[in-house]
Amino acid sequence: MDITIKKTETLKDHPIDSGLGFGTFFTDYMFNMDYNPEKGWHNPCIEPFGPMSMSPATMVLHYGQAIFEGLKAFRTPKGNIQLFRPRDNFQRMNKSAEMLCIPQIDEAFILKALLKLVDMERSWVPSETGTSLYIRPTIIATDPYIGLRASNTYRFFMIMSPVGAYYPEGFNPVKIWVTRDYVRAVRGGVGQAKTAGNYAASLYATELAHKDGYTQVLWLDGVELKYVEEVGSMNIFFVLGDEIVTPRLNGSILSGITRDSVLTMAKSWGLKVSERRIAIDEVFDAHAKGELMEVFGSGTAAIISPVDNIKFHEKVITIGNGQVGPIASRMFKELIDIQYGKSEDKFGWTVAVNPS
Ligand SMILES: *Cc1c(COP(=O)(O)O)cnc(C)c1O
Repeated sequence: MDITIKKTETLKDHPIDSGLGFGTFFTDYMFNMDYNPEKGWHNPCIEPFGPMSMSPATMVLHYGQAIFEGLKAFRTPKGNIQLFRPRDNFQRMNKSAEMLCIPQIDEAFILKALLKLVDMERSWVPSETGTSLYIRPTIIATDPYIGLRASNTYRFFMIMSPVGAYYPEGFNPVKIWVTRDYVRAVRGGVGQAKTAGNYAASLYATELAHKDGYTQVLWLDGVELKYVEEVGSMNIFFVLGDEIVTPRLNGSILSGITRDSVLTMAKSWGLKVSERRIAIDEVFDAHAKGELMEVFGSGTAAIISPVDNIKFHEKVITIGNGQVGPIASRMFKELIDIQYGKSEDKFGWTVAVNPS
């Protein structure tokens, strides 16, 4: 399939690197592609970023048949541009697609389309420390129909947003809030898919956490309300004595690419790493015994987010006296050094965006 390119003369002004924030500015172009049962995926096109018009009956608006991904492009000190583990994102997108009855995409073709799009938008990849170009691939159900079934037609699109440094003044630890009153996903549900409804389902409890002065919700399993799952849009790690523990993938947890990078990196340092069930009571008991050394989240947006406080109903614990631990600090530094091309990419995680 050839990608049609529709150019525009009216390019936007670029925001300054220090005022980027997250997800508010968008580049000049986007990628679009359509699906119908006769033609399969067709009409791949890079065209100016702009509104999409659709029927108010469009299925995604009613039943949430939508999936997305999140990945980043980074500018290296030499001015080259590279993506971090993009193949893993498109592979995961196909897993999400399967769960939501959305047709599979050709991962290699989509990567090629993304490399072309990022190449055209090189000037939008910011250069200040900690900034990057966030990429949002999405698929939505587009049949104009309000009966309940899987849609026959779909739109795949990718938009891109220059984003600021997550920690402009150094690490900013997050405070997390645990509840037994609400759950994000259950076994047998769609927790392991990056699908729109999971995030809508997380909003209410997150607002309660905010009202209580906490940043994010740490979700417990939806069946026994006992085992730790994940935080907001991050996976979670605990350092218990000399063991690094993260919940094993059980079907209701999103399989984070940063999570996998953390596991791979920690093993390469010779640390003891376990993917297993971990009860919230075990976390609090470890803290009482002085064995809860560090807690941190992992995800594409913040890379590593140290946690300094956990509240579980009326109990509150502070981790490491509010100081960021050595494993979280080293993990953050070594991951960003690979992402920004400042150290050797010994795991083969980056993909260069070559100028055409
Ligand atoms: C995207 C996401 C993550 C993190 O995945 P990464 O691939 O590391 O960005 C974790 N949990 C949820 C619920 C997510 O949506």
